[in-house]
Amino acid sequence: MSDEKIPLAGVIGSPVAHSRSPALHGYWLKRYGIRGHYVPLDVAQKNLAQVIETLPKMGFVGVNVTIPHKETVLGMADLVTDRAALIGAANTLIFRQDGKVHADNTDGYGFIENLKANAPGWEPRSGPAAVFGAGGAARAVLASLLDVGVPEIRLANRTRARADALRAEFGARIQVVDWVQASNMLEGAMTVVNSTSLGMTGKPELRVPLDALSPRAVVTDLVYTPLQTDFLKRAAEIGCTTVDGLGMLIHQAAPGFERWFGIRPEVDEETRRIVLGA
Ligand code: NAP
Repeated sequence: MSDEKIPLAGVIGSPVAHSRSPALHGYWLKRYGIRGHYVPLDVAQKNLAQVIETLPKMGFVGVNVTIPHKETVLGMADLVTDRAALIGAANTLIFRQDGKVHADNTDGYGFIENLKANAPGWEPRSGPAAVFGAGGAARAVLASLLDVGVPEIRLANRTRARADALRAEFGARIQVVDWVQASNMLEGAMTVVNSTSLGMTGKPELRVPLDALSPRAVVTDLVYTPLQTDFLKRAAEIGCTTVDGLGMLIHQAAPGFERWFGIRPEVDEETRRIVLGA
């Protein structure tokens, strides 16, 4: 009999059935010949603390965390990385062998890696960024753009108070622009990001006029259903380099996989195909 332990990981959320993470991690486990499993875990808020305490005792080496638990888990971790603290949420937990729970947030990392991989020559320091949206995803976008040295971020959100709150938190490199004047912030912008849920299948489009957009700008959308949003299509027509949101989803998963299973997984076309379920 072997005493080999089979490492387990998963994604905690509610609902979680729609998550593409099990397909992604399952594919990487198979690809690298690792005898582990990655499962969806639908956990109610009232059971979250107990589940996080119990999972390591059952052979779990870590989990991803998604809506609605990303903020709450920070308070349940023994160690929180700087970037998770800055973003105010965690998407990756590592259950360490010494019993400590380590919380990280790799969303900003995934966002930046996606741009680096799919917009070669992208230079974040070359000019201002323009960001639509001030929700949970925007926090990771802002933190990571500031970290890679964008000189200025222009931020517009339908509910202005949320954008003002982010400026108060993230500092003077953020300039808040009124939602109704959001097209003005595109003038001279070199990095343009949709971090609202507009453009998702079943939602209205992000209908901002793009007349002021320079063809030299790199434009990305966090929405990945559909892959080519109307916003990205219109930017491509102007001549901009456009980057879809699927790569962010895949890149944010890689650090967790490496910490849990010991191999840094490759992100390639086959990985994209698997996540799309194609
Ligand atoms: P969230 O916290 O719920 O924020 C939603 C954002 O969209 C807010 O800024 C909200 O504005 C705005 N919004 C929603 N409906 C709107 C409307 N009708 N008109 C104008 N603005 C509207 O969601 P989130 O977690 O930040 O996620 C945002 C999007 O990013 C989602 O589509 C999500 O799937 C995607 N995402 C993708 C990745 C990836 O890996 N690619 C990762 C994270 C998130 P208000 O503040 O005014 O409500």
